Amino acid sequence: MRLVLLGPPGAGKGTQAKRLAERHQVPHLSTGDILRFEVKAATELGRQVESKMSAGELIDDDIMSSVVANRLAQPDTMNGFILDGYPRTIRQAIALEEALRSQSLTAVVELMVDEEELFARIEARAKEAGTAGEDARADDTSAILRKRLVAFGRETRALSAFYESCGLLIKVDGQASAEEIAATIADHLVEALVRQRSAMPRKGE
Ligand code: ADP
Repeated sequence: MRLVLLGPPGAGKGTQAKRLAERHQVPHLSTGDILRFEVKAATELGRQVESKMSAGELIDDDIMSSVVANRLAQPDTMNGFILDGYPRTIRQAIALEEALRSQSLTAVVELMVDEEELFARIEARAKEAGTAGEDARADDTSAILRKRLVAFGRETRALSAFYESCGLLIKVDGQASAEEIAATIADHLVEALVRQRSAMPRKGE
C-alpha cells in the first residue's frame, strides 16, 4: 500500500493517514511532523526550515525531496507507506517518482474541504491545544493559515490534475465524519488495488 494524501491544511490528512497506517500496517510519513521534530531538536535541518514553517511558507523542493528520499530508503517502508504532506509541488511529485524507482503509487487520496470550514478547524485545533496545556503549532493562526492556503492554491492544487491524469486520484468529501471518510477511502482502495493487480504482468508474460 503506497498512498499519498492530498488536501489543504486542516483537511484532516493526519487523522486519515494515522488510521490508514494502522489498518495497512505501514508507516505514516508526515513531512510536517518530521520537520517539527527537527525544529524541536534544533538540528541543522530544523534551523534551516524553522522561520519558513512558522511563516506558513513552503520549504524548498530540494530539501524536502532529500528528506523524503532518505526516509523512503529505510526498511520499514518496504511494504508501503502513507505519505501526508508530500508531495506539495509538481517538482516534488516528480522527485517522488524517481525515489520510488519502478514501484508505482497505489493511489492518491484528495480530501476536499471548503475554506470556511478550514478556518473553523484550525481555530478549534489551536484552542484545543491551549486547553490541553500543549503548545499550539506556531503556524495555527488565522493569518498564517491564510498564507498556507495561498501556498496550497499556488503550488499544491495542481497536483490533483497531475495525479488524475495518471489515473491515481481518489477524491473524497473531507467534510463528512472521520468514520465516513475512512469507509469511503477503504471502498475506493479496494478498487485501486484490484486495478493495480490486474495491471501487473503475470509470471511468464
Ligand atoms: P498543513 O498540511 O496543516 O499545512 P503540515 O504539518 O503538513 O501542515 O506542514 C507544516 C509546514 O511544514 C508547511 O506549512 C511547510 O512550511 C512545511 N512543509 C511540510 N511538508 C512540506 C513539503 N512537502 N514541501 C514544502 N514544505 C513543507
